[in-house]
Amino acid sequence: MITGRRGFLSATGGMALATAFSRSSRAALRASGSVASESHFEVTSIQRTTVKLEFREVPRRNMDREIPHWRYAEIVDVTLKCGVTGSGETLLFYTWGVPSDEAVQRVMGRSALEMMWDDSLGAGLQMALFDAVGRAADVPVHSLLGHQVHSRTPLSWWNIDTSAADMASECREALRLGYMSYKTKGRPWFDVFHQVNEACAVVPENFRIDMDFNDTLLDAERGLPILQQLAQHPQVDIFETPIPQRDVDGNREITAATRVNVAMHYGNPSPSTVVATHCCDGFVVGGGATRLVSAGRFCKETEMPFWLQLVGSGLTAAFSLHFGGVLEQALWPAVNCHQLFEENTLTHPILLSDGHADVPDAPGLGYEVNRDVVEKNRIEKPATRPEPQRLIETTWPDGRRMLTASNGTINFMLKAANNGLYPYFESGADTRLVPDDGSQEWKANYRRARENGPISV
Ligand SMILES: [Mg+2]
Repeated sequence: MITGRRGFLSATGGMALATAFSRSSRAALRASGSVASESHFEVTSIQRTTVKLEFREVPRRNMDREIPHWRYAEIVDVTLKCGVTGSGETLLFYTWGVPSDEAVQRVMGRSALEMMWDDSLGAGLQMALFDAVGRAADVPVHSLLGHQVHSRTPLSWWNIDTSAADMASECREALRLGYMSYKTKGRPWFDVFHQVNEACAVVPENFRIDMDFNDTLLDAERGLPILQQLAQHPQVDIFETPIPQRDVDGNREITAATRVNVAMHYGNPSPSTVVATHCCDGFVVGGGATRLVSAGRFCKETEMPFWLQLVGSGLTAAFSLHFGGVLEQALWPAVNCHQLFEENTLTHPILLSDGHADVPDAPGLGYEVNRDVVEKNRIEKPATRPEPQRLIETTWPDGRRMLTASNGTINFMLKAANNGLYPYFESGADTRLVPDDGSQEWKANYRRARENGPISV
């Protein structure tokens, strides 16, 4: 999670514009009468709507093991005094920032121009402010963010870890829709070699596959043989966080030893340490507009590539395209995850060819919210993160079997893996959600696995 950085203002074109409007020029502009009063941009209404978006079939059976709560999103509609409405979106239980009631109150009656760079407002509210200002000014969001340097920007398909067959079918679907990149998780409870073999068999050699290990390779000594075996496939292009990011020496060893790019989440270790030690080749950058532009400037000066990781449905992906248009080093394919969902929150899909989408040039986000989809999927906002009980079975070809239960914490399987509780990346591992059939056996297994798990059975 990335916290907002209220008050941390980078020197950007958009920021300069907002500052100019909000401070010394304001009185002069009003007095001269030559420029519309800032009241044009005054926020007069903020509506929030919670929706539950169903996953497509293949992501559904995989997301339901660990992160079923990614279904819940909040659409934010901000209306300005001029009558224009802008829209944004937050995944309520996976985001760098959920807009609070306090943030909504703080923005009401204020100029959207003055507020839109404040990352502490949270994802959907900030996005809606940018969309509204762009529409009111009749310019695309990217022109509020800086100078456009890319007319097209790369995107990646995304899935959580899946069976090898599901990974291959998703890669095929990604390719069919113009994607040239697939990002997934590398986990010890699946056979990563089989997954990559099967996926590479259905895509051309210039299709890219990225695996995010989230520390699960634990250290360079054990991880490198696995990474080097995967790297034999020309499609394997990026390893993300193979071992803990704080292990600078270990990451430097991995980065030096493989032709595959190594990516780390921006900020840990400090970006200057990364550049000084070359413990990775590039970054994963997420968060609010100020943080994204700030990181983008650092990456430009240090010539480090990165991908934008803004996760949500189509609305969030649309916002991400604009950052891709102005940040020179946003050269790796963006991870937006909107491919997970059955229905699109946009009236028109984001179209790709050769792995890239156009940076929108229409006003605001350049895409319209599909109000029918929002209405159809509207629900009461859950008070807390929904936590259905899940029992997960992992098997190996020699007959070993382990059960893991959801235990109310986020990333319960990942934590177990990073504590060394699963066999380490063995061939033939396979994992599935065990459906709750209402039986006493299921309940007993769930209870035992939750109390002591993961357990061998
Ligand atoms: Mg990651």
